[in-house]
Amino acid sequence: MADLSRTGACSVDRGDRDQHGRRPGRPGGGTDGGPAMSPTPTISGHRGLDHEEPLIFELDHPGATGVDLPEPDTLPDRLGGLTRTTSLGLPGLSEPEVVRHYTRLSRQNYHIDGGFYPLGSCTMKHNPRLNERMARLPGFADVHPFQPEETVQGALALMDRLAHWLKTLTGMPAVALSPAAGAQGELCGVLAIRAALADRGELEQRRIVLVAQSAHGTNPATAAACGFTVEAVPADARGRVDRAAFEARLGPDVAAVMLTNPNTCGLFENDIIALSAAVHAAGGYVYMDGANFNALVGRVRAADLGADAMHINLHKTFSTPHGGGGPGAGPTVLSAALAPFAPLPLVLHDETGFHLIEDERAAHAAGLKPFGRLKGYHGQFGVFVRALAYMLSLGIDGLRQASGDAVLNANYLLASLSDTLSASYPGPCMHEALFDDRFLKDTGVSTLDFAKAMIDEGFHPMTMYFPLVVHGALLMEPTETESRETLDQFIATVKGLAQRAQAGDVAFFKAAPTRTPRRRLDETRAARQPVLRWQALV
Ligand SMILES: *Cc1c(COP(=O)(O)O)cnc(C)c1O
Repeated sequence: MADLSRTGACSVDRGDRDQHGRRPGRPGGGTDGGPAMSPTPTISGHRGLDHEEPLIFELDHPGATGVDLPEPDTLPDRLGGLTRTTSLGLPGLSEPEVVRHYTRLSRQNYHIDGGFYPLGSCTMKHNPRLNERMARLPGFADVHPFQPEETVQGALALMDRLAHWLKTLTGMPAVALSPAAGAQGELCGVLAIRAALADRGELEQRRIVLVAQSAHGTNPATAAACGFTVEAVPADARGRVDRAAFEARLGPDVAAVMLTNPNTCGLFENDIIALSAAVHAAGGYVYMDGANFNALVGRVRAADLGADAMHINLHKTFSTPHGGGGPGAGPTVLSAALAPFAPLPLVLHDETGFHLIEDERAAHAAGLKPFGRLKGYHGQFGVFVRALAYMLSLGIDGLRQASGDAVLNANYLLASLSDTLSASYPGPCMHEALFDDRFLKDTGVSTLDFAKAMIDEGFHPMTMYFPLVVHGALLMEPTETESRETLDQFIATVKGLAQRAQAGDVAFFKAAPTRTPRRRLDETRAARQPVLRWQALV
């Protein structure tokens, strides 16, 4: 583990702090002559209501605690002399200090409840509070995975109901609920494909997984983790899979293809039915990455497109707050060809109630050949509750409208920004709009600089530099619930910044962000030399 910088737990550049670790106020007014920052540093380092917040360890008053307990009686040592003699190294703070510390930190977060979140490839869904309420009902929140089956019939019924709707919305006969995220859903699907090939006696011969060039990085990673060799299939000028190149590569060595639909350029793969048929004719399986299912719900079913497996990121499509890495769930729907290989546990339903099948022998007795188990217990139950609450409260008409509104909002951005930014592909998009950096050509401003300037304007930047198939990508995905007013404000801001870049105000962009608790972080150093442990100043 890397050692610590003198001043704290992050490896960000904190060079703007004085020897006490405090910052001497904010930088002066921008080079733009725009709204000036206070040129006089404040005494506290705070700026108005924006508090300069140290690390909790820097707030330590040794000995302070939030509780008063009587001194313990002296007890005989039962630790064989291993009693700790040094301090635990935890910071001492009173309860209100702890509450204030974390509340202030939380105010430094950009969040979906604070503003528009145009992050593409991630579907920052509206998360109705009703779902949170449901997930916190004690019968759901306090259920324990070791409870006897007869005491969790309601929880199993909920999982069965969710499974029913996932199967109905995708037209697929089976679903494995346990994968904990999209990436693990991919693992589930590709392991099922591997098990099916082994069952057919073709695993030795079929070593190749074809992955679209624009794919999310998890696709090739999954195929490689399952022991396959990854080959990229190129995109054509329309941003779709190059059908001729794709069909030419199919053959007896291909195990599967992994395609995202709509793809990561926000475009529907129009040839998907023909592509799937060609894969099947060549003896392979079709893995459809369903991370972008938000654009299709209630309109297009994976089964009708020829998919054999598809994960559904419940957190992206059926609402669960998922900033900062979790929680999520990636149930994977499976075709009839792959269904027997679905991982344990399985929920079965008969006249005596719901039953969990947790061991292979019971599964074999039921005629199934599970490839194993993906994770402990039964999946992300709290996310299941939220997803089902979302589905039932919207109904099929509401789900259909949500996908329609997501596509409408993205096309509104695409159409409104196309005269100023450079859209990567002609024609309408699905749920996200992709631009590249041609509009910044010769301005000296990069996609990164542009994104940093958006932070000063109060917007979370769009996804940058992904997908990799276009140069300097800016991928924007508006949530389906955003109003026209919010979108118009965003559009006006992005246009204003683009014009400013084209007018040659490079210094303004290079200085951004100027209104954040921290400015540009040394991201390379943070990745290469992570400082994960705090150490007191000496
Ligand atoms: C988000 C995403 C994934 C991975 O899903 P996680 O839930 O983040 O693991 C895979 N593919 C695509 C296209 C995605 O957008």
